[in-house]
Amino acid sequence: MIRVTVWNEFIHEREKEAVRKVYPDGIHACIASFLNQEQDINAATAVLEQPEHGLTEEVLSNTDVLIWWGHCAHAKVSDEIVKRVHEAVLKGMGLIVLHSGHKSKIFQAVTGTSCCLKWRDDDYERVWTVNPSHPIAQGIPETFVLAQEEMYGEPFDIPTPQDVVFMGWFKGGEVFRSGVTYQRGLGRVFYFQPGHESFPTYHNEIVQTIIINAVHWAKPAQRANALKCPNAKPLES
Ligand code: ZN
Repeated sequence: MIRVTVWNEFIHEREKEAVRKVYPDGIHACIASFLNQEQDINAATAVLEQPEHGLTEEVLSNTDVLIWWGHCAHAKVSDEIVKRVHEAVLKGMGLIVLHSGHKSKIFQAVTGTSCCLKWRDDDYERVWTVNPSHPIAQGIPETFVLAQEEMYGEPFDIPTPQDVVFMGWFKGGEVFRSGVTYQRGLGRVFYFQPGHESFPTYHNEIVQTIIINAVHWAKPAQRANALKCPNAKPLES
C-alpha cells in the first residue's frame, strides 16, 4: 500500500459558501476519497489547525507521499514543520504540490525560488500533455479542457524542471508549465497547477487520474533514516 497524507489549510471551504458547495467536506476530503478508491493507495488527511498542522514526526514517517493544498494561510504554516517536511522529502518522501501551493513555504524550500507567477481568476484552460511517455501522463489524453480554472501564466519563477509533463493555455493567450517534476535528495516532487478552490477541478476524472499517477510516481524508491555526510575510508590502497 502507498500511504498518502493529503494536507489542506482548510479555510476557504469553511469561510466561503461558494467553495463549500464544490467541496462540502474540504478539498482534502475530496482528494483522499478518490485516492482511496485505488486498491494500492491508503489516503489520510491533515489540516492546518491540528497540533503540528497534523504533520507530526510519526505521521511523516508513515507517509510515502504528501499532497499539499494551501492558499491564504501559507504564512501561518510554522517554519519548524516546513523544515520537517523538507527533510522528509530529502530522505525520500514524495511531495505533490497543488495549485496555489506554488507559494507555500514548502514549495519555495524545495525549489529555492520565489515561485511567483501571473494570475487571473475565472478563466478557461486547455491542458496539453507535452511528455506523453512520462509515468504521470499515462492514460491522459493529448489535450483536455477545464471549462473554469484560474489563469496561471508564465514567467513562473521555478528552477528548470526535471520534466515538464503538462502545459496549460488560457484564453487570455497565456501559457504555463502546469505539471513539472523535480528530484530533491531521495524524494520526488510534482507540482500541478489546476485546482482553484471554487471550481470543480478535483471532481474531474482526468485530473484525478493525473494525481493518482503522480502518487504512484512519487512513492519512495528508498528512504534514508538521516541526512549524513560520512567521512569515508579509501576503498583502494
Ligand atoms: Zn486559485
